[in-house]
Parts: sequence; C-alpha cells; structure tokens
Amino acid sequence: MKLLITLDYELFFGRITGSPQRCLIDPVDELTRQLRRTGKEIKLCLFVDAGYLIRLQAEAIKFPQLGQQYKLIIRHLKALAAQGHEIQLHIHPHWEDSHFNGQDWEIDFSRYRLHEFSDTEIHRIVKDYTELLSKISGNGVFAYRAGGWCLQPFDKLSNALAENGVWLDSTVYYKGLSNEPTRWFDFTRAPAKAYWHFNNNPLFEDANGGFLEIPISSVRISPAFFWRLLFNKFIKNPSHQTYGDGSSMHWTKLQYFKMLTSYSYSVASVDGLKASLLPKACKQGLSRGTGDIFNLIGHPKALTPYSIKKLAEFISTHEVESVTYSSFRELRPR
Ligand SMILES: [Zn+2]
Repeated sequence: MKLLITLDYELFFGRITGSPQRCLIDPVDELTRQLRRTGKEIKLCLFVDAGYLIRLQAEAIKFPQLGQQYKLIIRHLKALAAQGHEIQLHIHPHWEDSHFNGQDWEIDFSRYRLHEFSDTEIHRIVKDYTELLSKISGNGVFAYRAGGWCLQPFDKLSNALAENGVWLDSTVYYKGLSNEPTRWFDFTRAPAKAYWHFNNNPLFEDANGGFLEIPISSVRISPAFFWRLLFNKFIKNPSHQTYGDGSSMHWTKLQYFKMLTSYSYSVASVDGLKASLLPKACKQGLSRGTGDIFNLIGHPKALTPYSIKKLAEFISTHEVESVTYSSFRELRPR
C-alpha cells in the first residue's frame, strides 16, 4: 500500500489565528522526529497556504515582526524540501481580504471560496501563489488542494490551474459532503477508486482528461466517535492538547447534531483523536477498492502528542511504502 501523508500547512481560521511557531514549525518538526524513529523513510507532502505567506510579505513593510515570521517559515519549508518532503499548492483566498492590525490578523471571510473572485483575480492568485511556492520548493509545484474542500464548480478554476502547471488535484474524498452555504462541497458521486483522470468535473472519470485526481482517503464514522470527541474536549489531557495555539471555525448546531446521531463520512486524518481511526480507515479503503493508495490528510496545527503516536504506531505495524505526489508523474495527462 502506498502511503501519502499530506499536511495542510496553515494557521487557524477561527477567532485566534495562532502563531507560526506553534501552528506550523513545532508540530511538523516533532512529527518528522517521531517518524524517523519508526526506522522507515517517510516523506510528507505539505499543502502550503501561500495566501498567508503573501500577506505576511506585504504587511511586513508596516510590521517588521511579520517579516521575521516570513523568514522563519521560508527557512522551515526550504529545510523540509531539502530533506525530500514535497511542497504543493493550497489556496485559502480570504487572505486577499485580510489585514494585520499590529496585534492580530483581522480575517475577512466574505470571500472564503476562490470562486467568489473574478476570473482575472483567480488567474492572478493561482499564478502568484504557485510562483512563490515553486521558488521555495525549488522543484516545481503541480498538485492542488482547495481550501476548505471548496473545489466545485471546478471549471471556474481549471484554466488558471492548468496554465500554471497544475495537473493533479487531491481535494476530493469518497462520500464527502458539506451543506454549509459558504463552505459547501459535494463529493457524494465521486468514484470509489484510488485515482482517476478528469477534465472539468473532478467527480467524473475521463481517461483523456487533463487532470489527475488522487482523492484523500475516506472513513465511515459512527456517532460514538463524535461523542468521544465531545467528551475529550472537557478533559484536559496534555496528550490530547494540540500543538497549535489558535481556535478553529465552529461547526453549526445542525452539523453537531448530525454527527452525534448518525453515521457520516470524513477524511482519513492524522489530526487529534481522528488518528485513532487510521487502522479502520485503511481496512475500509481496502474493502472499498480504494486501498492501493492510503492518502492521509492532516494539519500541523491540529496534531497532538497522541495523534503523532497513533500515526507512528500505524506505520510501524503496517506494510507501507511512503510516496509523494512526484511518485505519480507517469500518470500525468498528456
Ligand atoms: Zn486549508
């Protein structure tokens, strides 16, 4: 089984964004340290929230501390790239509308989806972000993950991505669905396959399509898990404390209710308590026929000592071959 560990390298989007040291640098460094101890050579794919980096750069003119943070992050990413970890494109376009007030980031979510920008803006955003990340990685950037899974309708983004050398998407997950008006996505019709080619609709396989989809692995979760998650929030156990020091966007009451009362599908994840589901997600993938590639998502900010331990345990007890998106270059559409 090929193992992809993909981390969305970003701050928090709730009331408190958190610091780059605690949300990005410390958790990734601890993760790579613990993965080395498994004795297997494990590579990470980092989907870097480039909009944040560009805002840091722009606001550093007024606030020199942001220039320091920018340098710290670039140094971190370059060191990771030099160790063979991969840097790819992640877009949270709300950074375009957000500002630093000298103390905190004032985040404006009115345009959370990339689709809310004009075609000219989308082209400019994709171009600037891929150029910056290619420069940092030194290796070229060709894989995309949409911020908040907001990938659809894809035809609004496809030209901008293709023109900037992106030919691989890794946003979709089997039976994924969000009904929130500002953050909706619907992957319920996604093929149950480890990968497929597509053209303008990532859910529709097209052998001659210009893009390759490598979906995030999916796991069917029982309500009991979410009760455990809720329970865990109230006990202060240091091994379940996230490395990140910010606050998340909130789920709506309806979402909470649904998860606590019925089965749902979620991404196979290395974040927090979800890392305990890795063996289950792996088994489900194999029985569903998507198991050739086990594509895990994670967020450095949401890692905990417990989740890192669970991932290392999974790797030590399963036959896995660590790969990155570069390993799939022979599947690049012509
Ligand atoms: Zn993200």
